Amino acid sequence: MDKPRVAFFDFASCEGCQLQVINLEEDLLQVVGAVEVVSFREAMKGHSDDYDIAFVEGSITRHSDEERLEGIRRCAKVLVALGSCAALGGINCLKNFHDQEYVKKLVYGDKALLYETYPARPLKAVVPVDFEIPGCPINRNEFAMVVKAFLLGKKPEIPNFPVCVECKMAENICVFEKGMTCMGPVTRAGCGACCVTEGSFCWGCRGLVDDPNADSQRDVLATHGLSVQDVLGKFRLYTGFSEVAK
Ligand code: SF4
Ligand code: SF4
Ligand code: SF4
Repeated sequence: MDKPRVAFFDFASCEGCQLQVINLEEDLLQVVGAVEVVSFREAMKGHSDDYDIAFVEGSITRHSDEERLEGIRRCAKVLVALGSCAALGGINCLKNFHDQEYVKKLVYGDKALLYETYPARPLKAVVPVDFEIPGCPINRNEFAMVVKAFLLGKKPEIPNFPVCVECKMAENICVFEKGMTCMGPVTRAGCGACCVTEGSFCWGCRGLVDDPNADSQRDVLATHGLSVQDVLGKFRLYTGFSEVAK
């Protein structure tokens, strides 16, 4: 059987999710052995438009991105959004809450007129997406799991329960007990609550679970001293493109 041909692409992003793929170390050899990588700018020279699976990182931030993404969609049998910028719009959507001319000037100064930009959006706002791997950055083990599932012809399973479940399994003390606030109750698990385990709190980087109890989360954050603006900021950090952050 021919190996599936795989290509990686990036739009507005820090490329940290592609770096996680390169950081797979020994698992990378297994993955690379099972597929044929035909395009991966961060890791190899050369490019081919003949591929089966496209992993696309980054969010769409200008009209010219749409044409390029539509071309990738036409070539790919399976299109996977790699990371929260691609899957959710992610941190790039923070600019959507500001005047776009102001944002452009802030970034490009007196060269602002030379650059096009529009409010950031996830891939699925432009083309159909077959699968999403959330996270900022992605969890590389989850990426390996997704590739293995594709190779076996199975649908990969991304958790649809909150980070709090994994946080309890890790036997962490809840940060609300320590005077901090946390987005774990409404955020999709799959990271093992790593930020809490490492002494921080959940910032919400994997996006919202399906049907999140956003009203209760807003109430809890307000009860712990956050202003309306602070609560909005918590929801907007990664999920600004979603309705709950509007
Ligand atoms: S999701 Fe995060 S790590 Fe991945 S490309 Fe976007 S900003 Fe970078
Ligand atoms: S620290 Fe955050 S993720 Fe952990 S149990 Fe508390 S609210 Fe949930
Ligand atoms: S704990 Fe929250 S912020 Fe940290 S990786 Fe998991 S989902 Fe992202």
